[in-house]
Amino acid sequence: MGLIDSHIHLDDLRYQRDRVSLIERAKKQGVTGWIVPAVNTDRFDAVLALQDQYTRVALGLHPYWIADHHESDLMVLEEVLDSHDVIAVGECGLDYFIKELDRDKQLHFFDAQIEIAKDRDLPLILHVRGAVDAVFERLKAHGYYRAVMHSFSGSVEQVQQMVNSGVYLGFGAAACNPNAHKLKAALQAVPLDLLMIETDGPDQPFYDRRKQRMLPEHLFRVCEEVAAIKGVTSATLSASNNANIKKLFNL
Ligand SMILES: [Zn+2]
Repeated sequence: MGLIDSHIHLDDLRYQRDRVSLIERAKKQGVTGWIVPAVNTDRFDAVLALQDQYTRVALGLHPYWIADHHESDLMVLEEVLDSHDVIAVGECGLDYFIKELDRDKQLHFFDAQIEIAKDRDLPLILHVRGAVDAVFERLKAHGYYRAVMHSFSGSVEQVQQMVNSGVYLGFGAAACNPNAHKLKAALQAVPLDLLMIETDGPDQPFYDRRKQRMLPEHLFRVCEEVAAIKGVTSATLSASNNANIKKLFNL
């Protein structure tokens, strides 16, 4: 049975030279789908061009690039969402880990994107760093919880809060680091029916492959190691992961 990657930046320029062969290799090994979120309007065309029967795309304005976003980008986002087959708004969210990123501007763009998603009944793909509580507060303010927090890095208590609201949580190679005790505890607390796995390629390589690109085919190692932490088989985890992705993104 195949495996779907809930979060990968296949459009990234670091895949430019060998993208086609990497995708083919992952497909041969059994990756059967990818969710590819865009991070700013400059990447919308590149992401949309990847869309096919395996690759489904999302569009959003990422908080890491907050300095680049213009007010008019929100209108562009709405126009492109309404004229293309897009499955989610994202990635968007809040990054309080990097102190230089303007928090007021982040909140403005995040609030706007929650409303854009809610108006269209599209799920949100959330980037959240150092801001789990702040993001949850915004979801609550808008009464909209149809979302996945990708690369989750909160506490067990925060997992509980998300679970109670039906927010999906994404985990990748970071949780597989032998020293990531807090993250492993959080992962153990996530019920299988709200858990997704991801590579977040080309970022977030495994601890023993630092400075190398995370590749599409590495999803299988993520699956194996996350399954071991959860105490289930890889087959069980892949089945629930695929079902969760299909449910949230309406595939
Ligand atoms: Zn991402």
